[in-house]
Amino acid sequence: MVEIPKYYIWTIGCQMNKVESERLGGLFEELGYQVTDIAEEADVIVLNSCVVRQHAEDKVINKLKNLKALKHARPQLKLAVTGCLVGPDIAGLKQILPHVDYFFKPGEFPPWLAQPTAMPLPSHPELSTYITIMQGCNNFCSYCIVPYRRGRERSRPVAEIVNEAKELVKRGTKEIILLGQNVDSYGQDLPDKPDLADLLTEINDIEGLLRIRFLTSHPKDMSEKLIKTMACLKKVCEQVSLPVQAGDDEILKLMKRGYTVDHYRRLANLMRENIPELALSTDLIVGFPTETTEQFQNSYDLINEMKFDTVHVAAYSPREGTTATRDLKDDVPAEEKTRRLKMIEELQENISAAINESLIGKTVEIFVDGKKGGRWRGRTRTDKLVFFNSKNNYLGQLVKVKIDSAGPWSVRGKL
Ligand code: SAM
Ligand code: SF4
Repeated sequence: MVEIPKYYIWTIGCQMNKVESERLGGLFEELGYQVTDIAEEADVIVLNSCVVRQHAEDKVINKLKNLKALKHARPQLKLAVTGCLVGPDIAGLKQILPHVDYFFKPGEFPPWLAQPTAMPLPSHPELSTYITIMQGCNNFCSYCIVPYRRGRERSRPVAEIVNEAKELVKRGTKEIILLGQNVDSYGQDLPDKPDLADLLTEINDIEGLLRIRFLTSHPKDMSEKLIKTMACLKKVCEQVSLPVQAGDDEILKLMKRGYTVDHYRRLANLMRENIPELALSTDLIVGFPTETTEQFQNSYDLINEMKFDTVHVAAYSPREGTTATRDLKDDVPAEEKTRRLKMIEELQENISAAINESLIGKTVEIFVDGKKGGRWRGRTRTDKLVFFNSKNNYLGQLVKVKIDSAGPWSVRGKL
């Protein structure tokens, strides 16, 4: 009997890594491999890594250490690493991690495979599927390793993305989420410079598709055209992820973000005027080098003022090779960073709970994407998690639910 070879993919990090792993899985299946979630059983192991913060990098290095014994016991096992650990210096990586057989850059193909022209699409895609519309980033925020590891911005042509979206919808996808480090600068590197608004307009026409989302936006590049387009395209959900990173102009300058707090505030107001139901989420870094308690207080006050739907808060983590690490001393003590992080988390938990409570009594449109604990689960257009009970099957459908109770992370209601 011929043994079917098995593959195991371990992924951490952002949505882009998750999509790339999903597509890699599709590639292995096309080549006759079978998935396993037991590393010891695999013939091929791929680690899709993240090094945006030290904590993530530590996890990757630990995983690699654990796999070293496995590789020694079974030298025929192929061990490959992709994701943001893999920058331009592959030779350097090979020296420090000799038990790894292959390194390949994020979004590329494993080098031992015959090079296909494109990653195959999943044969049974999720109801809600991500499409990467661009790779890389041109911004070089002073704290961020991404541009060094993922390179400069490369946008995929509109027609290629639209065809992929059509094919995914044919195979069962109902919601598409467009991904990039800075989707607001999508297309600037393409010959006729299409922008995100043009791309959304084309995707909006795909029959059978119910919803479209996109992330991440950049406050210096979000255009009025995009806001107006969002406001009039029916399938584009009222949700924007617009990382502010700090609520203090001096810190924003040191971060090289390219905008002021006031610009951010005006932009958010413009979006809320044009899209009244808009759910706005943000990212914030606390304990950036030289951040004083007053400067942190400015971030705290901005979070309190803006009433974001979601805030992803992170403690600053110095990254080798970035200009912040080169030029600034990581001088906020670890305990102080944790204290600031907890303060923001607590504040936001109360804000999120209040926003969710304001939904009680309202009827909202839910896209039903699964079941959890015997209850149907779905999301509003503003990405709120909703649970409801029903004996009928609503999977993949839009339904109306009247909200009757709420917590900080989800709400419940009746059909
Ligand atoms: N492109 C997006 C943007 O402009 O914010 C986000 C990409 S970044 C990979 C994801 C998040 O990680 C950032 O929003 C930031 O808050 C966080 N991050 C990146 N570098 C960091 C660092 N050195 N320390 C702490 N957090 C960091
Ligand atoms: Fe990193 Fe800034 Fe690019 Fe986001 S915009 S990926 S934070 S460099």
